[in-house]
Amino acid sequence: MPVYRDAGFELFDARTTADAFREETEHERVPDKYIYSRYRNPTVVSAEEEIMRLEGCEWALLTQSGMAAIDTAISIFQHGKETKPWLFFTEIYGGTISFIESVLKKRRGLEINYFTPENGVYDLNEFEKVISKLKPEFVYIESISNPMLIVADVIEVTRIAKKSGAKVIIDNTFATPWLYKPLNDGADIVIHSATKYFSGHGNLTAGVICGNNKKLMKEAIGYRKFVGHLLSPDDAYRLQTQIQSFELRFSRQCSNATGLAEYFSKVPVIKKVWFPGLKNHATHAIAQKLFGRKGFGAMITFDFDGKDEKEKRRRRDKFIKLVSEKIKLIPTLGDPHTILMPVEAVWGAKYPEPGMIRLSVGFEEYEELKSTITKAVNVVGAD
Ligand code: PLP
Repeated sequence: MPVYRDAGFELFDARTTADAFREETEHERVPDKYIYSRYRNPTVVSAEEEIMRLEGCEWALLTQSGMAAIDTAISIFQHGKETKPWLFFTEIYGGTISFIESVLKKRRGLEINYFTPENGVYDLNEFEKVISKLKPEFVYIESISNPMLIVADVIEVTRIAKKSGAKVIIDNTFATPWLYKPLNDGADIVIHSATKYFSGHGNLTAGVICGNNKKLMKEAIGYRKFVGHLLSPDDAYRLQTQIQSFELRFSRQCSNATGLAEYFSKVPVIKKVWFPGLKNHATHAIAQKLFGRKGFGAMITFDFDGKDEKEKRRRRDKFIKLVSEKIKLIPTLGDPHTILMPVEAVWGAKYPEPGMIRLSVGFEEYEELKSTITKAVNVVGAD
């Protein structure tokens, strides 16, 4: 696919121009005539088709970031004074929470409600009570949360939400379509931060909105155009190239993560491991129901033990230093190499264990990766 870097496209005469502008407002997925690269771009459409194949959906709209995808997906449900309440599950990306608090609530004055899990699981009986009373316009949820890796029973959430007439928006960034496709179970919109596993190399920022509902997707195309959220053709080209190895990369990342999580769970100096593939994870059964035997994602959170907070932090920091040649502290996820983040430094006191580390597992050769980690854990444990 060529990279069409043109800002505007030749329209030849007044008649063609008038037709092109009129048709553009009808927002079919592929426009008849390209007009201007903030509206649509052939390279971007081509990359979208690659994502439609992966997600198994009829529409995919690329945006400049995952946040731009989230803004687009939810803003199409804003109807001035007529806007109904919106319901967000609490265990979602911190940037989404900041967007809700500082833009949706503070600037746009919208009524936002949250639904919180108890003991690491969303109580769906409680959810049913909340939603039937609130009657929100939509429910917003992540299929695998961050950093506790709570797997939401998306099938049940969707069923309950539909009964109350609510639309369902799923952030499927951590699960990816390789593990689970929420649209097949009735979700209305799926979004991804394509910055993560879709691009997979930590070298571009992008987002995508997927769906089968033509009316919603046409509105999303309009909103994306008005606010200027469309992905650039260069980034679309790179994404389209990199996404072709997505399934190979992600399947390896999942199997590496499963191996490491099992190892971590047997190490005495590690007090707790959160990984949906482990039997003791609060949402293991839900993960099995949703993902089958394919895998459980490529994120692991674990917690160094210690006699007090000081010792826990010391062990955490020692581990980070010992692995730092091979495993970098980089605040993203889905990169080729395994990278990590200290949970307390990012989420503060939200998660009370100061020894916690979140690992984004890469697609390195497993034995080499395990050896880097084992050596460091052994030194920390002997301390
Ligand atoms: N959704 C999830 C689950 C994320 O982890 C992130 C970013 O980390 C986003 C959305 C936002 O994506 P982006 O950083 O591409 O805007």
